Amino acid sequence: MAAVVVIGSGFAGLWAALGAARRLDDLAVPPGTVDITMLSATPFHDIRVRNYEADLSDSRIPLADLLDPVGVAHVATEVTAIDTDTRTVTAAGGTTYCYDRLVLASGSQLVKPAVEGLREFGFDVDTHDGAVALQQHLRELAAGRATPASATVVVVGAGLTGIETACELPNRLHALFSRHQITGRVVLVDRNEVGSDMGASALPVIVKALSDNGIEIRTGVYVTVVSERGVLLSSGEQLEAATVVWCAGMRASPLTEQLPVVRDAAGRLPVDDYLRVVGIPAVFAAGDVAAARMDDRHLSVMSCQHGRPMGRYAGYNVVSDLLEEPMLALRIPWYVTVLDLGPAGAVYTEGWQRTVVSQGMQAKATKQIINTRRIYPPLTGNRADLLAAAAPELQARP
Ligand SMILES: Cc1cc2nc3c(=O)[nH]c(=O)nc-3n(C[C@H](O)[C@H](O)[C@H](O)COP(=O)(O)OP(=O)(O)OC[C@H]3O[C@@H](n4cnc5c(N)ncnc54)[C@H](O)[C@@H]3O)c2cc1C
Repeated sequence: MAAVVVIGSGFAGLWAALGAARRLDDLAVPPGTVDITMLSATPFHDIRVRNYEADLSDSRIPLADLLDPVGVAHVATEVTAIDTDTRTVTAAGGTTYCYDRLVLASGSQLVKPAVEGLREFGFDVDTHDGAVALQQHLRELAAGRATPASATVVVVGAGLTGIETACELPNRLHALFSRHQITGRVVLVDRNEVGSDMGASALPVIVKALSDNGIEIRTGVYVTVVSERGVLLSSGEQLEAATVVWCAGMRASPLTEQLPVVRDAAGRLPVDDYLRVVGIPAVFAAGDVAAARMDDRHLSVMSCQHGRPMGRYAGYNVVSDLLEEPMLALRIPWYVTVLDLGPAGAVYTEGWQRTVVSQGMQAKATKQIINTRRIYPPLTGNRADLLAAAAPELQARP
């Protein structure tokens, strides 16, 4: 029996596994011919883009509900090594898995720099567990003898994740601390300007939303020390805050270092139009671990917007390649950004220049459809629904 192994169960990994199962089904490959196994650190498909939200109760979907109906095996384990010569993957505990074709979809990670106290006292919204730990910490602060510092959060990094996190916090703090008659305080800190990569069209909308949400801004400064009581900024300012959320700096999964290729500045692997890692036979990569060409001028960005189609195409192609069937090239002719701005609504941009198309509550409605419906797999447990959703087709713009 031939083996396809998929590493990761996020937006790219899930859709790669379902896409591969769909392609086997398309080709009427008899059962027992090709085995698909997903290895992932958790037994869940996490809707990671929702981690800035307060309520994460429906943002984690058991893999069994998604993969069992289509016959994809899944093992909750952390992969530690990939050997492309012997075509084996080693997981925690030393178990090895042989592959005929591999899809690497182990995503990205927040990089926490060596700032004093950050690892000990800093929170993040990078993973489901991180986001739950943050919410639990805020609840504990509110349950105790609350002070203004307990209701103060410093968010570090004014990129997309930092802005969404900061904008969501005032309401969360109000819900937790208003009974103490304490008003929440949110301070957004960055070395650069706020939303510096959001472009001239969207920036004024973002700046106004931050102001309307009462968020304080400190730019042109960096954090030098994090402690239980707050942060010290390079300007010498001490912010009294019981909570620091680090949102600055993403890097591709360290598993990319296992492949003998030159990676880009974010640690991503070069892939061709079929999502094959350039120069490495039998290995495909999708999502945040891969830099794929989206059109003649732009590479993919680390996003679920690109990760999901990359996964579907990688799944289709990995089986096609294995069975010597034609593969499909991936190109995505449109790019959008939909940034949640909390009570101020959202901003929806189109194009790589990020031209604002809608804002306020109209854009917020689009964001909510994306976060709660558009990016979810079918939850019916039905094989036909899951395979249909894995078609290697591009969704229309949201
Ligand atoms: C708060 C937040 C908001 C975001 N908002 C947006 C947004 O609005 N729009 C957008 O397009 N993108 C957004 N993103 C980015 C988006 O979440 C990522 O680009 C996307 O999750 C990438 O998908 P992926 O499948 O490549 O990786 P991931 O979703 O990170 O999945 C990686 C998978 O690999 C597994 N894994 C990792 N290492 C190992 C290992 N060693 N062994 C086994 N398994 C492993 C993980 O458990 C996980 O299942 C946001 C991200 C965050 C954190």
